[in-house]
Amino acid sequence: MIGFELTQEQKQFQKLARDFVRERVIPVAARHDRDATYPADVVEAAFAVGLLNVGIPGAVGGAGLELLDEAIIGEEFGYGCMGIYTVLMASELGITPLLIAGSREQHEQFLAPLTRGPRLAAFALSEPNNGSDAAGLATKAEFDGDEIVITGTKTWISNGGIADFNVVFATFDPGLKHRGTVAVVVETDRPGFSSNQLHGKLGQRASPTYELVFDGVRVPASNMVGQRGEGFKIAMRTLDRTRVPVAAGSVGVMRRALDESARYARERQAFGGPIARFQAIQFKLANMKIALETARWQTYHAAWLADTGQPHAEAAAIAKAYASDSAFEATQEAINIFGGYGYMNEYPVEKLMRDVKLNQIYEGTNEIQRLVIARHVLE
Ligand SMILES: Cc1cc2nc3c(=O)[nH]c(=O)nc-3n(C[C@H](O)[C@H](O)[C@H](O)COP(=O)(O)OP(=O)(O)OC[C@H]3O[C@@H](n4cnc5c(N)ncnc54)[C@H](O)[C@@H]3O)c2cc1C
Repeated sequence: MIGFELTQEQKQFQKLARDFVRERVIPVAARHDRDATYPADVVEAAFAVGLLNVGIPGAVGGAGLELLDEAIIGEEFGYGCMGIYTVLMASELGITPLLIAGSREQHEQFLAPLTRGPRLAAFALSEPNNGSDAAGLATKAEFDGDEIVITGTKTWISNGGIADFNVVFATFDPGLKHRGTVAVVVETDRPGFSSNQLHGKLGQRASPTYELVFDGVRVPASNMVGQRGEGFKIAMRTLDRTRVPVAAGSVGVMRRALDESARYARERQAFGGPIARFQAIQFKLANMKIALETARWQTYHAAWLADTGQPHAEAAAIAKAYASDSAFEATQEAINIFGGYGYMNEYPVEKLMRDVKLNQIYEGTNEIQRLVIARHVLE
C-alpha cells in the first residue's frame, strides 16, 4: 500500500507556512523585487515561527525536519515569492554538506548557533570561470600545519556575504580533478575574506547574490568537512538533496500562476463574456494543472526516496528539471492569459516568470540534470 496522505504533522507545517506566506511574504514580495532589497524582516519572522534552517538536527537544537517536510514548506514559499524562498533555501543548501559529512563537533560549532537567531549559511561552489564543471575548481586549499589557507574567487553565491559561514569547495591539487577537492567551512569574519553584492538580476531580486574573494584566508584544519579528496563528492551529494526544494519552489510558482490565471480568466471580459469560456484559455489552465500535479508528486517521491535512505539522485534531477521547466512554461502561459496586463508589473505574473527562470539554472542547469538522468538511463 502506498500512502498519498500527508501526516498530521506535515499538514501543520503546510498550514504554518501557508499562513506565514499569506501574511508576511505576499504583501512585501513586489516591493523587495522592485527595490532589490534583502527581506530582513521576513527572515526574522520566519526564524521566530520556526521556518528558518529547518534541516538542523534536533541534537543541536534544530527542528530536524526531513526533506519531504522541507518540500511541503518550499511549495508554500514558492507560491509567495521565489526570491524570498531562495534566501531560506540557500541557507539549507549551506547546512547540507555538514548534515551529510560533518562531525558532531562541527554540528555544535557551526549549526547550533544558527538555531539561536535569524542567521544564515551559504554554499560556495561556483566560480567565475567554472560552474557546471564542478570538478575543475580553481580556488586553492593549501594545507599548512594545522591550518588550511583558501585563495580564490567564488561567484553567484546566494547569501554568501551575509551568512555566518560559507561551505567553500576548493582544490589542493588541480591535477587530481575531483579527487583533489575539499569542502571547508569559512566563517565570513575571517581576515582575508571579502564580498561584493552582485546587482542587475532578471528576477529573484529579494535574494542577495555575491562574489566572494578569499585572499589567503586561514581556517583551522578542523573546519574541513569530511576527508581530503571528498569535496566534489560532498557537493554532488548535497545537490542531490537540495534539488528537491528547488523543485518544490517551482511547484509553488506554478500553483500561483494557475490561481492567478484562473481568477483573471473568470473576471476578464471579451466578446461579451469571460475569457474563461474560450477553450483555448481552458486548455492553458488544464495544461498548467497537469504539470503542477505531476511535478508535485515527482518532488514528493524524490524527497521520500531521500528520507528513506534510498538512491534519489535521478529522481531529484527529474523533479528539478521537470518542475522548473514546466513552471517557466506555465508562467509564460499565465502572461498570455493576462494579455497586455500580464506584461506589466502591476500584476504578479511577470515576476513569476522572471523569478522561476533561475530555477532552471541554479543547483545545476537543466542540461546538467539531463546528463544525470541520461547517465542513470544508460547504466
Ligand atoms: C542568482 C544566482 C544564484 C546562484 N546561487 C549559487 C549558490 O548559492 N552557490 C553556488 O555555488 N552557485 C550558485 N549559482 C551558480 C549556478 O549554480 C551556476 O550558474 C550554474 O551551475 C551554471 O554554471 P555557469 O553559470 O558557470 O554555466 P556554464 O557551466 O558555463 O554553462 C553554460 C551553458 O553550457 C551548458 N553546459 C555546460 N556544461 C555542459 C555539458 N557537459 N553538457 C551540456 N551542456 C552543458 C549549461 O547547461 C549552460 O547552458 C547561482 C547562480 C545565479 C545566477
